[in-house]
Order: sequence, then C-alpha cells, then structure tokens
Amino acid sequence: MCQGYRAVVVISVAGAFRKGKSFLLNFFLEYLYNLHKAQQTDSSMDWLTDECQLHGFHWRSGAKRDTVGIWLWGEPIMIEAPSGEMYAVLLMDTQGTFDNSSTYQQCMTIFALSTIVSSVQIYNVVDNIQEDALQHLSLFVEYGKMAMNEAQGFGKPFQTLCFCVRDFKNQEEYELGDVGGADFLANVMQTSPSQPDELRSVREQLHEYFENIMCYLLPHPGYKVAERQSFRGHVKDLRPVFREELKKMVPNLLSPHALRPKIVNGKPVTCRKMIHYFKEYAASFDG
Ligand code: GDP
Ligand code: MG
Repeated sequence: MCQGYRAVVVISVAGAFRKGKSFLLNFFLEYLYNLHKAQQTDSSMDWLTDECQLHGFHWRSGAKRDTVGIWLWGEPIMIEAPSGEMYAVLLMDTQGTFDNSSTYQQCMTIFALSTIVSSVQIYNVVDNIQEDALQHLSLFVEYGKMAMNEAQGFGKPFQTLCFCVRDFKNQEEYELGDVGGADFLANVMQTSPSQPDELRSVREQLHEYFENIMCYLLPHPGYKVAERQSFRGHVKDLRPVFREELKKMVPNLLSPHALRPKIVNGKPVTCRKMIHYFKEYAASFDG
C-alpha cells in the first residue's frame, strides 16, 4: 500500500466539532485523486466541475459525533513532485476538539499528536480567530513539544500551521482567500508591549514553534450545504464564491509545488518511519 521508502506528506485538519473539517477534506481528496490521475495519464487536470459529486470522508449534518480520534484516509495518494520524486500524501481527519464526549486531555493528545506528525496542520475555526482558540492551540502544541523532547534535535519543532476561517463575514475589511488571510492573521498575531503578557507569549510561542503560519478566509458555502440534510456532495449546489475560493485554496496547499514532506530531525520521513514515529509518540502520551 504505502511503499516504505517514499517521502510522506501529511495534511491534518483539526478544530472544534461540526465545523466542516471532514467536508473540507473531501475537497482535498477530490483534488489529489484528480491530480494523481492527470499525472499518470499525462493529461491536464480539471476538478470541481459542475457534474462533480464529492465522496470520501464521511460527513453528515446533525449533532452526533462522527469522527472519533485520529483518522487517516485509507491509502496514501501518490503525487509526483516537480523534482520527479514521488510523495505519499496522507490526509488526516481528527476528532472534534471540545465536543461534549471528549475530555480536555483527549483533545490535547489528539491535537498534539496530529501536529507532531503533520507537514501542515490546518486549524479550522468559524468566523474569527478567537483568543481562546489561540490559548488552546498554544497549550496543545506545548504539550506536543514536550512529548517530542530529544527526538527533535534542531530547528523549529513543527512545520506549517494554517488557520482556516470558515463563514468569514468581515469581507469589507479583508478579502477572501490567502491574501486577505495574511492581512487578517497579521492583525490577530500582532504583539505589542502594552499587550497583557499572556496574549503576547501565546503569539510569540506560535511563531517560535512553527516554521510557517498562514491563514485562509473562506465564505459561507451556501444554504444547501449548511442548512439542509440533503447535501449529497454535488458541486453545483455550492455557492459559486465558495467554489471559487476552494479552487484557489486547495491547489495552493496541495499542488506538487506546494507539498512539503514531513521532516523529522532535518530529514524527510519515509512511510515506514512515519508508522514508527506515530507509535512512539502515541506511547509517550500514554505514560
Ligand atoms: P466536522 O465535525 O468539523 O468534521 O464537520 P463536518 O464536515 O461533518 O460538517 C458539519 C456540517 O457543517 C455539515 O452539515 C456540513 O455540510 C456543514 N458545513 C460544511 N462546511 C461548512 C462551512 O464552511 N460553513 C457552514 N456554515 N457549514 C458547513
Ligand atoms: Mg468530521
């Protein structure tokens, strides 16, 4: 399934329960499978066409918890990097943080573990990046850093952190997508001497721990997605502006040029090693 020697790229989506994480991952799958096919057949790639129906990760409306723990898509998707090297891309869905059936400890472990093993940790939030979301994030990554201890010899412990703000409303002040996201993030992450120490140190810590921090602002996906039980993944049911933003955001994160293998101790991790690390870190959280 996963050739042991391949460099592995791990994309994780984390954040509160029922905020569209699994839904977003379906677009990632759709893009990666189409890209894989185009690369294999040497043809140009098209995706999110009118006729397209999404499938993949299970999503459903309602309030029952659907994703438990950490969940990897059943197979890595092979993508050829511009260098000609093949990457094994793994998509990771995580349990909603702070649903009512997980303890704080469970949330922290899941978030920390998924951050440690991922090339990109997407922190999915709604409407805004609230102070408490940053505080939780800060505690979780601190916990992750502690678990890594000697395993991390040099450099920053984690790779990319990407905030994904769903149903973003303040579009008069910020444009959608990555450009507005960068402005919005700069504003949120701003530090000043007059700021309470606690707020400042959370921001400094995130910059210290992640090599790269980015942000995407996504609009509301339309009532057929958000309000109805009946959404079946038909792309034509998405609000056009949402679809346009996804058509930019997903390739920005997942195109062959954008993918970054998971690095541990300065070296790309292979699929086989990844499984080893995962077990090792999971065990260190048990103790
Ligand atoms: P998860 O628990 O975070 O994985 O959330 P799901 O992906 O299962 O989505 C929960 C519900 O929110 C589903 O009914 C989705 O159709 C809906 N949904 C997905 N994306 C969005 C979004 O961007 N905005 C809104 N308002 N609803 C969404
Ligand atoms: Mg889910």
